[in-house]
Amino acid sequence: MIDVCNIHVMKPLLAEHGFHFSKAKGQNFLIAGWVPEQIAEDSGVDRTVGVLEIGPGIGPLTQQLALRAGKVCAVELDKRLEPILKLTVGEFDNLEIIWDDVLKLNVPELVKEKFGDLRPMACANLPYYITSPILTALLEAGCFEAVTVMVQKEVAQRIAAKPGTADYSAFTIFCQYYAEPQILFDVPAGCFMPQPKVTSAVITLRTRKELPWDVLDEKIFFRVVRASFAMRRKTLQNGLASGFPELGKAGAGAVIEACGLPASVRGETLDIPQFAKIANEIVRRRNQNV
Ligand code: SAM
Repeated sequence: MIDVCNIHVMKPLLAEHGFHFSKAKGQNFLIAGWVPEQIAEDSGVDRTVGVLEIGPGIGPLTQQLALRAGKVCAVELDKRLEPILKLTVGEFDNLEIIWDDVLKLNVPELVKEKFGDLRPMACANLPYYITSPILTALLEAGCFEAVTVMVQKEVAQRIAAKPGTADYSAFTIFCQYYAEPQILFDVPAGCFMPQPKVTSAVITLRTRKELPWDVLDEKIFFRVVRASFAMRRKTLQNGLASGFPELGKAGAGAVIEACGLPASVRGETLDIPQFAKIANEIVRRRNQNV
């Protein structure tokens, strides 16, 4: 197997194919072999798993996943990588490369078509410029047991944040609504070529088999969440009044009171069950024309 993380191997390989890194495509390739090995090991991928990889690059993580998984489907946008991937991962007959933009794919359909009875997981060193849309698509797809990804450390901290902390955000709630996050380990900038400006971290999101939230209307729930964080450091009452003009300030106050929360409560201190309670109260009032 070609040691693609060894820069004395990687540099001549890239040069031979006239390959130049594209910043616009988020191309920071791993040059520390322990990283893809650790990601693949911690992801829980084994022969019973079908794994979707996003952005194989020249294949360091792809190799480690293909060594462990029942099947790997790797989606790569940059066709210039085709001759290099042929050399670095061409030997694996449990690997299929899909040359496409991951954001244009119908992920649940792809998973059904490619993985059959295998347990679906997703694993990637993500292109950072589209971290949120990719994670949104993977979690909303509702078909993965686990999603293990490398992201910027600050994004990992936001995903795993607790209520009332500076990192807690609407994206935290979106991710934790669907999954239980766990930050696994940090990866210093020196592990990549070219070096990014930030530290990275690997995070695993174990998706919830059943959503335990008792949310009556998901659209209203996520509207409540967005409204609460749109006006950070303002009261929840002001946030709700501007996110739900139909309630007005008095209506927003009444919803908060009906949920047993103090009038001065701020949205960024609430946990998911509390957001669900507020959203359900809004739905109840809407249905009763209150
Ligand atoms: N997995 C390799 C590694 O760890 O060295 C490369 C990771 S690099 C951070 C991100 C990869 O995602 C690049 O190969 C890039 O071409 C690819 N990529 C960028 N945008 C993409 C998209 N929309 N769909 C699929 N792949 C994409």
